[in-house]
Amino acid sequence: EAKASGRRQHRFFDTALQASITERAALIGDLRMAVAQQQLALHYQPQFDDSGRLLGFEALLRWRHPERGPISPALFIPLAEESGLILELGQWVLQRGCQQLAAWHAQPALAHLTLAVNVSAQQFRSPGFEQQVLDALSWSGADPGHLKLELTESMLVHDVESLIDKMARLKRHGVQFSLDDFGTGYSSLAYLKRLPLDQLKIDQGFVRDLLTDTNDASIVTAIITLGQSLGLPVIAEGVETEAQRDALRQRGCRAYQGYLFSPPLDAPQLVAFLQRYGGVATPPSMPLQ
Ligand code: C2E
Ligand code: MG
Ligand code: MG
Ligand code: MG
Repeated sequence: EAKASGRRQHRFFDTALQASITERAALIGDLRMAVAQQQLALHYQPQFDDSGRLLGFEALLRWRHPERGPISPALFIPLAEESGLILELGQWVLQRGCQQLAAWHAQPALAHLTLAVNVSAQQFRSPGFEQQVLDALSWSGADPGHLKLELTESMLVHDVESLIDKMARLKRHGVQFSLDDFGTGYSSLAYLKRLPLDQLKIDQGFVRDLLTDTNDASIVTAIITLGQSLGLPVIAEGVETEAQRDALRQRGCRAYQGYLFSPPLDAPQLVAFLQRYGGVATPPSMPLQ
């Protein structure tokens, strides 16, 4: 009976992971060992500008569980946050990502590429975060100016002042910032103006129904207009069709990421992709791999 009420409570408190408390505890235990046991990998999804030029990539974390197979980051990132493992995981992502960035910069044709790395709220708030970023950069030799940290609006809920301070300190080293999933959160326009951002990222939820839902179309238009008036470039994520890309372009969006161009690529796919397309203009719509 206690177990049943525990389950109910769990459903109430966390809809992201529909698993029992015991299962969650087991997964957290497994996640604790995932770094050491090399079950984690970064996949890289390309980002393009309007003329089809490759701008860079977003790093997306993958966990292949030895028994359960691949587990979605949408499921394990929240577990990592609540268990405190996010710091260790985030450090691994930063080190791995910066290593990749440095490798690109060693090749003249790829030296312009940027890497976007997702940062969770817990991770950004932790006192060690700033040093983690700077350590990953100096350890790898990656150029801070090509690292773009993706924050989310959920970070704007508490202590915006210290968030702005931390961003400003990292920016002094050249690090860039993008606001991910923009439009889904709580950011007030007053804060938005004060954040030292370099990019707004339109959430894929608005892109999905852009052609069929007039509300979503209005929101997309508003975000792009807002970006333009704040002097912030806008990138759209989750672009799956040419029609979506055209509608975005028509509204003034100039950068895109999504299955229309490429899914996130694992290491061998990335190598093949860069051999084919690296540094040179790509067709506006390229075949999936
Ligand atoms: P996100 O940062 O908004 O990433 C975009 C998600 O959309 C990714 O899901 C990507 O695979 C997916 N996607 C890309 N193109 C398309 C498309 O055309 N259509 C659709 N429907 N989806 C597309 P993924 O990899 O499952 O990641 C989910 C979320 O997990 C990410 O959302 C991000 O919030 C989080 N995440 C992933 N990697 C990391 C990480 O290293 N650290 C942290 N803190 N969070 C991460
Ligand atoms: Mg992201
Ligand atoms: Mg996003
Ligand atoms: Mg998202």
